[in-house]
Amino acid sequence: MNYDAIVIGAGLGGLTAGAKLAKEGKKILLIEQHSIPGGCATTFKRKDLKIEVGLHMIDGLDDGDPKQRIFEELGVLDNLEFKRVPEFYRFVKPGVDLIIPDNYEQAIEVLTEHFPAERKGILKFFKVILALRKEVFRVPRQKWKMLLSMPFFPFYAPNLMIRENITVGQFLDDLFDDENLKLVLLATLGYYHDNPYNMSLLYYSIAQGSFFSGGGYFIKGGSQMLSDYLASIIENQGGEVIYGHLVEEIIVEDGSATGVKYSKKSATKGEQQSAYGKCIVANAALPNVIGKLLKNTQAKTKLSNVVGNPEIAPSILSVYLGFKRTPKDLGNRYYSTVFFDGGISSQQELADYHHTDLSKRVFIFCDYSQLDSDLAPEGKSVGVLCAMDNISNWDALPKEQYEERKELAAQTMISRLDKHIPGIREEIEYYEVGTPTTIRRYTLNPEGTAYGYAQLPGQTGRKRVKIKSPIPNLFFASAWTEPGHGFTGAIISGYWCAEEILRK
Ligand SMILES: Cc1cc2nc3c(=O)[nH]c(=O)nc-3n(C[C@H](O)[C@H](O)[C@H](O)COP(=O)(O)OP(=O)(O)OC[C@H]3O[C@@H](n4cnc5c(N)ncnc54)[C@H](O)[C@@H]3O)c2cc1C
Repeated sequence: MNYDAIVIGAGLGGLTAGAKLAKEGKKILLIEQHSIPGGCATTFKRKDLKIEVGLHMIDGLDDGDPKQRIFEELGVLDNLEFKRVPEFYRFVKPGVDLIIPDNYEQAIEVLTEHFPAERKGILKFFKVILALRKEVFRVPRQKWKMLLSMPFFPFYAPNLMIRENITVGQFLDDLFDDENLKLVLLATLGYYHDNPYNMSLLYYSIAQGSFFSGGGYFIKGGSQMLSDYLASIIENQGGEVIYGHLVEEIIVEDGSATGVKYSKKSATKGEQQSAYGKCIVANAALPNVIGKLLKNTQAKTKLSNVVGNPEIAPSILSVYLGFKRTPKDLGNRYYSTVFFDGGISSQQELADYHHTDLSKRVFIFCDYSQLDSDLAPEGKSVGVLCAMDNISNWDALPKEQYEERKELAAQTMISRLDKHIPGIREEIEYYEVGTPTTIRRYTLNPEGTAYGYAQLPGQTGRKRVKIKSPIPNLFFASAWTEPGHGFTGAIISGYWCAEEILRK
């Protein structure tokens, strides 16, 4: 059988590319090493609870969001329910407790009320991030390269000339004196990166601007619903989705990608099989495509030369929680609360506080009971505590120490939560820790990252746009390529990848 496209990996990038191509009548084969689709966009069952692995909130869904059109086209909005989260986030630091709304007009009001001396800067902050988001998605993608190669972006408001290589940290330092205000605006930095001083302002603006324009959403029933739905499009259109099989090689003949070699993942490794297609879409991590899947030396070198050696983004530590009652019953009223209660006082310290000891590290509590999430039976609920992490803290540990460290992580973070929501520890009937190693095991992503390459100024935009495959018939759709990571980044990358294939 010769397929129109073979997709390696059923993360959101691969699923979206496969679903769009299948809808256009293309014959698809999707091969996923795990037993279910989704990659990071997945849930798992523990007794009567559904545990959400990788979705706190998905941004946007307003008119300025390119995902909106993709969802409409693929029937996502007709088949799944998106629940708007009540506010963007609550920020907690000794002496500061602020609720930041998920729309910029109200956010400006809240921030200017609390930081009146910074009013001018606050207005400029929102003007810039919203203009950046608008500008990037306004221009046709084909023109990105031209736009991104300019030394300055010609934004809507021409007086807002922002250098392409500026970082969020520099931008905030230029605008504000108040360190607390900077930290409030960086509360969700962990959704993108760990260090404001090397995170691209452009990327931060697109993502953060999207939350402030269109709000944040949770998918009723969990992110697995979206992954299952996208996989069902491929199957309903006559495509094949094979789970539990690992792609081991991208076949390259006469310089072009022509197929894959794959085998069943089982204790006794299955016999290797081959499949051929007119094009190959790698949802698998780009470093793995170069380092593992391309055995052809010329092709490997070609791709490696184009990609270079960009820095990989940090990973995430999650403590998944199941509650006998809801945190709402204990008085918690917020969906996402970000705790900066470990002693941090300025944005200069933020990178350190994203990696310091867990007793002081910045963390976030996501309380799914604040909306009709459908993750737990009536009266019960689930939540998650999350912090930034690095795989080096985990992957060298012998099994016993690894388990001990997981237990310590859970206890430390639960104790910190219990200080803010007294009594919550008593209501926990289940907890489980997901480390960077866990993410790597389920996605095969190097360093257990869920974010692909780090969004540094030199790696966002211009550099990323250049990650075009130099190998004919090989395409990429994932957080590792343009436009970036997160549900939105991966979904858009999949759609753009399909469009590129269809244009050909
Ligand atoms: C704990 C956590 C919380 C997060 N929270 C949010 C959030 O609130 N909002 C948000 O927008 N984003 C969030 N993210 C990030 C987001 O989930 C990811 O950026 C995005 O889903 C990545 O999609 P992807 O297409 O790159 O594929 P991935 O999710 O990385 O999946 C890749 C898939 O390819 C498969 N694969 C890889 N290699 C092979 C191979 N050789 N053969 C077969 N199969 C292969 C893997 O098994 C996997 O299924 C979170 C992630 C995590 C882990």
